[in-house]
Amino acid sequence: MTAISQAKITVVGAGFVGMTAAQRCAQLELASEIVLIDVLEGRPQGIALDLNQAAAIDGVGSRVVGTNDPAATYGSDVFIVTAGRPRKPGMSRSDLLEVNGRVMQSVAEYIRRGSPDAFVIVITNPLDTMVHLMRVALGFPGRRVMGMAGVLDSARFSWFIAEEVGASVLDVDAMVLGAHGDSMVPLENYCTVNGVSLPALAGRDRIDAMIDRTKKGGGEIVSLLKTGSAFYAPASGGVAMAKSILRDEKRLLPCACLLNGQFGFEGVYTGVPAILGKEGVERIVELPLATESRIQMQKTIGAVKDDLDALRDLGLL
Ligand code: NAD
Repeated sequence: MTAISQAKITVVGAGFVGMTAAQRCAQLELASEIVLIDVLEGRPQGIALDLNQAAAIDGVGSRVVGTNDPAATYGSDVFIVTAGRPRKPGMSRSDLLEVNGRVMQSVAEYIRRGSPDAFVIVITNPLDTMVHLMRVALGFPGRRVMGMAGVLDSARFSWFIAEEVGASVLDVDAMVLGAHGDSMVPLENYCTVNGVSLPALAGRDRIDAMIDRTKKGGGEIVSLLKTGSAFYAPASGGVAMAKSILRDEKRLLPCACLLNGQFGFEGVYTGVPAILGKEGVERIVELPLATESRIQMQKTIGAVKDDLDALRDLGLL
């Protein structure tokens, strides 16, 4: 196992995604201290106790601190923000705009005060809008504030490809860009199974079915669970991004990044391939896109802008 890092990570929100992210950070020994903060009294403290006791069995050296006190997060290197409501069956992610928007503002307030140099990875939905609001509220440079969705959407596409072609998911590479919602843009031309392109392995109708299932992948889990939404893969996605930054791995991951002219868009967050390292978003990789994917990127940006307008109407932006 790698030597324990001296970093401090705060996971905001001790619900399903947050507690799973804290567990994953601890098991990877990504930081010496992992703070888990929630507004619910007792919940983060209880989960921290449980995780520290699991550490005694697993031989893990990270210490988890459960708290309701923002001051305990001060001096964090990375925040993984999962606070807020998840969807219920029949809800769209945009239905969460107002309630979760207010949560982002309150969290940004203490991140700015106590951890002015931190990297911030937002997971809360509606993702692209919440990360935009978080950056505005923080006033941090875009390279330090990013959203997790593309890692998850690409992992879903990877799993459906692995199932369809009967191959190991370890050999699958998939890429999904755009907003985290129905307008996401799965890029079939950039999907391979150990270098073999997807069209060589599956027919048009099967590829279309996998793309459709990827776009509805979150909703499928929401319907099956009846209460709450996915949490294992979302937590893994957020922690993979944190790990690439803290260990300067320079992984190329699809993340919600602030665009500065890339793909023809300016001043808006959406999912794009990015290299994450010790500077945060070190490079946004501009892929050549097929005409159909370019049209889909226009639509996905349109959907994000509609949500940003709704946030402005609510007085949150
Ligand atoms: P959950 O209800 O289990 O947990 C949310 C937690 O946030 C609760 O414990 C709640 O008390 C806490 N909270 C609320 N306001 C807070 C505040 N101001 N400060 C600290 N904590 C606060 O929900 P979950 O399943 O963990 O999902 C969390 C969020 O992540 C939801 O918005 C969900 O839609 C989103 N999500 C995003 C993705 C993605 O791909 N980006 C995937 C899955 C879930």
